[in-house]
Amino acid sequence: MRNTDLVQFLKLIYAERDISRAALAEKTRLAPSYITVTIRQLQEKGWLLEGERVRSRAGRRRRLLHFNPALAHLLGIEIGRAYSRIVVTDFLGTVLSHKRISSHVSKGRDHALGLIHPEVKACLQHDPRVQGIGIAHSGVIDTAAGSVLFWPEVQGWRDVPLKQIFEGEYGLLTVVEDSVRTWAKAEQQFGQGRGHSNFVCIDIGMGIGAAIFVDGHPYVGASGLAGELGHTTIDENGDLCSCGNRGCLEVIASGAAIINRVRSALEKGVGSVLGEEDSTSSPEDLSIESIVTAAKAHDRLCELVLREAGTHLGTAMAGLVNLLNPETIILGGALPRAATDLILEPLRGTLKARALQQSVSRVDVAISQLPDDATAAGAALAVAERTLEDLCRAW
Ligand SMILES: [Zn+2]
Repeated sequence: MRNTDLVQFLKLIYAERDISRAALAEKTRLAPSYITVTIRQLQEKGWLLEGERVRSRAGRRRRLLHFNPALAHLLGIEIGRAYSRIVVTDFLGTVLSHKRISSHVSKGRDHALGLIHPEVKACLQHDPRVQGIGIAHSGVIDTAAGSVLFWPEVQGWRDVPLKQIFEGEYGLLTVVEDSVRTWAKAEQQFGQGRGHSNFVCIDIGMGIGAAIFVDGHPYVGASGLAGELGHTTIDENGDLCSCGNRGCLEVIASGAAIINRVRSALEKGVGSVLGEEDSTSSPEDLSIESIVTAAKAHDRLCELVLREAGTHLGTAMAGLVNLLNPETIILGGALPRAATDLILEPLRGTLKARALQQSVSRVDVAISQLPDDATAAGAALAVAERTLEDLCRAW
């Protein structure tokens, strides 16, 4: 098999996780005898393993093939504003160990990276099988160059060549990817994206970003910037956004926007438990959690602000559903996790009212059930495919 064909063949097996020889022949249109020979070679090399037997539609029992999880281990790093997460996974992305550290990104990139490097060194010393590093990062990423172009509202993070820094330090293949896309990769492999070809993952934290999957593949757009749902205009004359536009979804319905709205209402003297003198949360340190707790205790202001955010999110999602006709939308991030029903109820109502009936009747809106380290595990998955290419070169 030619090297490029072998890479495609292996990527198909990797994406499918478990696949029979017959399904491989059907999907690749290669001769079954050719597939049998190649698979035998891959098994002899220890790349592929045989798994359980399943019964085909015709009633024949077939043995499924999958990658050897021990083929290589991978390191996944999520660099976040508050915390960074570092995981070691097997080749299939199953987390073997994980660690969370404070990021301190406001102290500058050298300080923040200086906290991550000792953790990476410890992982590599402990597990010499690690063959690649995947880094998940928010902000504007140049995936091809592996750098962070800029990180809105985080000083000192402009043109950070993470790929160059990590490859220079550790001599391991490093891939830098947008953190919403790595989380979505994890949803596709382990979560509610499994079995779906067309789906959208929307992260609603302090900002809002989306990852779009079309026909099973991530859609990244002409310059890799697809998925900037947070910068969809909702109110043409609204507040100024960090992108320079007015009334973006992000300035109306993100975690940061919700905190700003509650704070500004409190400053105007609107009544709320959060404004009372014995409140545990002063206007300076309001958080999504304190606002959600107050709303759940029927605080009118907090309930109203969250419901309005849910309505605006529903409006933006109606546009998305009309445009893409997805099978499912998965919501992740601090806001949907904390305020599930408070956000979902107005969101679903608005989506149903505004999107085309034929599209909206099929779409499912779900909250992510994956653990907190899913974004870092997805970064490891992002480097797995590139590691495969390297392994094939040495075939
Ligand atoms: Zn914007």
